[in-house]
Amino acid sequence: MRILCLSVVLALAAFGFAQQPQAQPSPHPSHGPTHAAPSADEVWNKLMAGNARFVAGKPQARALVSLRQKLASGQSPRAIILACSDSRVGPELVFDQSLGDIFVVRTAGNVADAVALGSIEYAVDHLHSPLLVVLGHQKCGAVSAACSGEKMPSPNLDAIVVKINPAVTQAKTYAKADDLVESAIKENVRQSAKDVLANSQIIRDAVKSGKLSVIEAEYELDSGQVVRLNAPASTQN
Ligand SMILES: [Zn+2]
Repeated sequence: MRILCLSVVLALAAFGFAQQPQAQPSPHPSHGPTHAAPSADEVWNKLMAGNARFVAGKPQARALVSLRQKLASGQSPRAIILACSDSRVGPELVFDQSLGDIFVVRTAGNVADAVALGSIEYAVDHLHSPLLVVLGHQKCGAVSAACSGEKMPSPNLDAIVVKINPAVTQAKTYAKADDLVESAIKENVRQSAKDVLANSQIIRDAVKSGKLSVIEAEYELDSGQVVRLNAPASTQN
C-alpha cells in the first residue's frame, strides 16, 4: 500500500499536481505551525459564509499576487468539491473561495467516473482535505438529458447519461412529470455521493475513520444559494 501510494503520488506529480513541500507527516504543512487542521463542520461553515457573501454580491477582497506566491510551495485545500461543469456554477465563485482553498473536480452532471474518483482520492489521501461536497444544481442539462430518455449522439455523452439514469429511475418513483428533472437532480447528487463511497476504498476508509465527511448540496441558479440536501447527522451514510 505504501509503495502504491508513493507511485500514485509520483505519477500525479508528473501530471502537474503540486506537491507538498515534504512527503509526510503533517496533514496541513502549508497552513503554518500555529494553524490547527479545521474540522469538516468548520470547513462547511466557511463555505456557507462564502456563499452568503456571493449571494449578497459582496465577495472578499483578495491579495492574489502574494497568495499565489505563498501557494507556490504547496497546497492544502480545505474542501473537495465535485460539481457540474455548467458554466454558471463555478465553485470558487459560488463559495467565494480563493487560490488554494478548494480542490475542484467537475464533470457534466457531477458524475463520479473513474477519473473523477482518482482526483478525489488524491485530495483525500495526499492533501488530507476533511470535507467532500457533492454539488448539483438547478436546471442541470446533463440530468435533463437523462430524463429525456433520448439516445445520445456519442458513446462519451452516453457515458454521462448512464451514470445519471439510476437517479432518474429513483425520481420517477415519486415525482410528477413537471417535477421530474428537479427531483432527479437531487437524486443524482445522492447517487454521485453513493458512487464515490461504493467505488473507492480510499474514500470509504477516510469516511469510516472520521477523516472525511461527505455533504450533498444543490446550487440554486436563481438565488445563488447553496442548499444542503443531507442532514448534518447523516453525512457519512
Ligand atoms: Zn449541470
